[in-house]
Amino acid sequence: MAKSDVSGKALTVLGPVDPSDLGVVITHEHLLIDLGIVFVEPDTQEGLELAEEPVGIDNLGWLRVNWSSNRDNLVQKDISLATSEAAHYKAAGGGTLVDVTSIGIDRNPMALSKISSATGLHVVMGAGYYVDPALPPDFSEKPLDTITEEIVRDVEMGVDNTGIRSGIIGEIGCSWPWTDNEKKSVAASVAAQSETGAPLLIHPGRDEKALIEIVKFIQDEGGDLDRTVMAHVDIRIYDHEILRELAATGVYIEYDTFGLESPFPPHAPDTYMPSDYQRIEQLIRLIDEGHLERLVLAHDNCTKHRLRAFGGHGFDHIPTTITAWMKRQGMSQHQIDTLLIENPRRVLTFA
Ligand SMILES: [Zn+2]
Repeated sequence: MAKSDVSGKALTVLGPVDPSDLGVVITHEHLLIDLGIVFVEPDTQEGLELAEEPVGIDNLGWLRVNWSSNRDNLVQKDISLATSEAAHYKAAGGGTLVDVTSIGIDRNPMALSKISSATGLHVVMGAGYYVDPALPPDFSEKPLDTITEEIVRDVEMGVDNTGIRSGIIGEIGCSWPWTDNEKKSVAASVAAQSETGAPLLIHPGRDEKALIEIVKFIQDEGGDLDRTVMAHVDIRIYDHEILRELAATGVYIEYDTFGLESPFPPHAPDTYMPSDYQRIEQLIRLIDEGHLERLVLAHDNCTKHRLRAFGGHGFDHIPTTITAWMKRQGMSQHQIDTLLIENPRRVLTFA
């Protein structure tokens, strides 16, 4: 691997920083997003009407259960709203927010840079492609090397002509079953990781077997598991034996939907979102089994109803509420600091 100019540094939208400056890090968020591709049309007349309403206090109860069946809920393009939501996280002790909005769900480098400047938060921006339905129409014709070079350019030069550089490759979208286009997208991302030394973050398909299959693929492609994060583990794996198998690969395991407790969402009716209490229980079990150094945390805020302005928990739920619950459930301050400061600092540092 050729050493890049940011080797040993973390790369934010305002430029490289010393990793020890990152502070508390949430590793999977979306300050701005268009997640319209997951919209599921309700099958009742009442639902069809609610689907088209703007998010508000009178439909919030329905939205918390049917959050992927309201069009307005899946789109957040208001920069000043994102800035005030991010400011709450900063005020609660947050240092860095990793925005893994990738190509296909409306990545916005200029906006992220503005939000970082306005709040004083470090913001790390994603690169690469989201799931197959969000891929550009010419993706299947594009040679693998071309896709790799585009990702490398986003990391080394910046996105489009902004000069704003991606500090992580992800979230790279995979579905279940895993599509050929998505395998190509992961292969290009791994090649770009090898070339740049950047961290890599994977959004796995909705099947317990998907995650280990992807890790093996990354290994075969020559990826760096010490800089690879497997996202959404808390809403993909329910069988502890499979979780142990994944942890044994050495990949970073991300518990990234803190605050989201809705079982059976419309777009994924065969899965459930555990409670925050259950998430913490599982983290404690993984720590007891020796995996303290490989766990990272986030909310994956990707809908309006989870923002403070719409009655949600915001980007500060982890520092404001979850860390106190972790202590009540038996975690030590050292363990919490490892999950929120030490581990993300290590994985965000370029090779
Ligand atoms: Zn996400």
